[in-house]
Amino acid sequence: MLSVEEAQTLVLSNLAPLGSETVAVSQALGRVLAQPATARTSHPTADVSAMDGWAVRSADGVNLTQIGESSAGHPFDGTVGQGQCVRIFTGAVMPSGADSVAIQEEVKADGMAITLDRPAPAGQHVRKQGQDFAKGQSLLAAGQRLTARDIALLAAMNLPWIGVARRPRVAVLSTGDELALPGEPIPEGGLPNSNSLMLIACIQEWGGEAFDLGIAKDDFDSLVAKAKSATGCDLLITTGGVSVGAYDKVKDALAALGFSAGFHKIAMKPGKPLMFGRMGGLPVLGLPGNPVSAYVSAVLFLKPMLRQLQGISPALASPVPAKLAAPLPAGGAREEYLRARLETAQDGTLAVHPSKAQDSAMLSELASANALILRPIKAAAAKAGDQVPVLPLD
Ligand code: AMP
Ligand code: MG
Repeated sequence: MLSVEEAQTLVLSNLAPLGSETVAVSQALGRVLAQPATARTSHPTADVSAMDGWAVRSADGVNLTQIGESSAGHPFDGTVGQGQCVRIFTGAVMPSGADSVAIQEEVKADGMAITLDRPAPAGQHVRKQGQDFAKGQSLLAAGQRLTARDIALLAAMNLPWIGVARRPRVAVLSTGDELALPGEPIPEGGLPNSNSLMLIACIQEWGGEAFDLGIAKDDFDSLVAKAKSATGCDLLITTGGVSVGAYDKVKDALAALGFSAGFHKIAMKPGKPLMFGRMGGLPVLGLPGNPVSAYVSAVLFLKPMLRQLQGISPALASPVPAKLAAPLPAGGAREEYLRARLETAQDGTLAVHPSKAQDSAMLSELASANALILRPIKAAAAKAGDQVPVLPLD
């Protein structure tokens, strides 16, 4: 059986970045920059005042005559001469001749006769042209996922459009006769389909665009018909039907559509039945049906795949060391990913609490977990207080 790392390497070596497209900056939140972003303007575009007050000449002392006004969007078009000043407001262009701003709280105005409480030093409360950034400067690197703060920066750079990585289109197919759509009548002993919704949420969170192919029955024809709809997507994710039971028919059905498996089992727990291969040109990741296994496999495989397809380094965040709050038994023949809660103790160190139940069907435990404890193959038993590697989930 392949190790998790071997399987990740194999999967990623089979995926090339999808290329880029141009989108409006207003639509670019969460997208990955495809090229470095270069400013089309300096910021500020001119020397401007940072405060409300009077624009003055620092050499002129405290008794001045106001000769005009400069407000944001309405610059004063004269020149400030000796002994003169101009009423100015935040964001307004500094009039020529002036080199400092006296704030209004420190000025007495009697008509046009202006008296400063004290002399204004050169450059006071002036934002110089290009002080934030200069035209032509490259400010955001390719491969960066854009935040609201980046959007503000791109807009200030006067960029209406930006090149971003194309969103991977991911088809999601659940399988199982026992499944119902959430809210629909549940077949006797069956359950709502939680995997599709979980995977669609993961895909959206990790930068992809999800297409819900619904629920296939555990029969060949239903599986083939639904899987066919993945045409045109960049990736097909299936869940369930990939272990060794009599009703695990996903592999055979996909094979009828040209699928060949690179692997269908890996040495991890939860998530041993994990399948990867290609159906013609379409990469297919077959996840286990158990919801916790499906989620852990998605974190370990789908997330790096989506990163790679978007042209960013596929590597997940490095595990952090944390102090175990409860003992753990020795590990087995598979790498284990234990659901856990990572918390910062009062002294600032990280403590990790393994979930009491590690059953791979328990969604309540999964939802309250925020981290996975990594247990290598044949890990020795660990006692409370030992340091263990932990992968934070959010
Ligand atoms: P399977 O791999 O198809 O044998 O499924 C393993 C377990 O996961 C079974 O208990 C299924 O009922 C459950 N399961 C499979 N698919 C889903 C799904 N989409 N949502 C929730 N549970 C599922
Ligand atoms: Mg099934």
